[in-house]
Amino acid sequence: LRLSDATLPSLPGAVARPAYDRGKTGIGIVHIGVGAFHRAHQAVYIDSLLGDEPDWAICGVSLHSSEVRDALRPQDGLYTLALLGEQPSQRVIGSIRELLCARDEPAAVLARLADPAVRLVTLTITEKGYCLAGDGLDAAHPDIVRDLASPDAPRGAIGYIVAGLRLRERHGLAPYTVLSCDNLADNGGKLRRAVLQYAERIDADLAHWIDTKVAFPRSMVDSITPATDDSLRERVERELGVHDAWPVQREPYTQWVVEDRFCNGRPALERVGVTMSDDIAGYDKAKLRLLNAPHSTLAYLGSLMQLETVADAMREPLLSGFVERLMREHIVPATDLPSGFGAGGYVDAILERFRNPAIRHLLSQIAWDGSQKIPVRLLATIADALAADRPIDRLCLPVAGWLRFVVRQAQAGVPLVDPMDAALSRAGRTATGDAAHDIAAFLALEMVFAPLSGDTRFVDALRTAYAALGEASREQVASALLAAT
Ligand code: NAD
Repeated sequence: LRLSDATLPSLPGAVARPAYDRGKTGIGIVHIGVGAFHRAHQAVYIDSLLGDEPDWAICGVSLHSSEVRDALRPQDGLYTLALLGEQPSQRVIGSIRELLCARDEPAAVLARLADPAVRLVTLTITEKGYCLAGDGLDAAHPDIVRDLASPDAPRGAIGYIVAGLRLRERHGLAPYTVLSCDNLADNGGKLRRAVLQYAERIDADLAHWIDTKVAFPRSMVDSITPATDDSLRERVERELGVHDAWPVQREPYTQWVVEDRFCNGRPALERVGVTMSDDIAGYDKAKLRLLNAPHSTLAYLGSLMQLETVADAMREPLLSGFVERLMREHIVPATDLPSGFGAGGYVDAILERFRNPAIRHLLSQIAWDGSQKIPVRLLATIADALAADRPIDRLCLPVAGWLRFVVRQAQAGVPLVDPMDAALSRAGRTATGDAAHDIAAFLALEMVFAPLSGDTRFVDALRTAYAALGEASREQVASALLAAT
């Protein structure tokens, strides 16, 4: 037996399900990129809203792959969301009423985009789906070149968004709002520029119409959504008593912050827990500094202590105590947070998320790409702390931990997963253990450390932290943490 509208009434009572009549809902949103994250995040918020606002059901579009459509169409679009925590729970989500694969059914996708009932187009297509170069469109990208050659028969996301808007302009219809829900700084701004630059190459009047009429709100999303695996499929089948071809799973915590700038109405998202704010950059910054920086701290210091996952690292009292202190006493006071932001509650929630044993978030994976992450996650906070004459010694410990991690990998001959692997590993291989010598070699990496490398307060604090870690054995890291607590 398969999960579907017909089998919904037979599910066990403990499984939550749509509390509204799905047959009375209408499609108001086209979502491009029906991956795990969309189904575990946005579609769940909309599922909570459809009882009150039935006009915002979702048409889920995959551009290239038919897998999700083929899994969910026989289930009437229904699928299970499993929340991973101390007490796992299951909920059947009903907000996706239609599934299309653009490759197979391009006319159906364009018809939806041109449907006046559709007033919002949302996206989770991963960064590469936007075909960006810097802050705008990569006009030389093969997908863009191809779509520009036949703009009425596009294949990429930008091509479809513009083709849909072009149909609306021709038919005298109001445009839709285009809302990126990908993890990308200034996602709305980048998407808007890419769409305008693409449209300009087709038709200047169309570009002008989009420029003046279409809204591209920014947004910030957060909820760890591990990919679906067989053990989830088996667990869901056991709990539901029917087969679900593609359930999804995520941590209980979820956050969605959206800029309130829509051009054709919007769902009352604030009624279902979405934060409407003008300051998305502020929320992005809070996440980088209070979620991602502690993650990196646990990743480097925890890896040196031979720990495997975030939850494992949080079970080390020295490490979790240090991270908490870092957040509350150093990062929060040094960071300009959005107005009305409840920093204490945000930190509490993050610590609880880190402790969740049901999420196996590998430290080795968080440790990737340190050269790209350390500047925005930690060095920016250190710069702000210095500007405010605040102490930076504790903030330098995770940075020193990263350098020790680099030295350890380099001297063991293990390449780093990092675009700057060559330069970092070279500095790591020649490290002698002498703090002044080693730190000088790393600070020469301008792309990472400028402009802080010229500040003697920073150089001294980083040397001290590096020396405190010694050879970075488990015991030495523990004693450095003890000294810092
Ligand atoms: P996923 O692999 O399940 O889904 C990726 C989706 O992107 C698929 O629908 C795929 O068809 C589409 N896609 C990939 N390349 C594309 C392209 N070139 N053009 C158009 N569509 C393309 O991954 P996911 O977990 O759903 O993550 C998707 C995005 O969601 C991430 O890139 C990130 O921006 C955001 N996100 C994910 C998480 C998470 O924990 N998984 C958390 C926050 C934000």
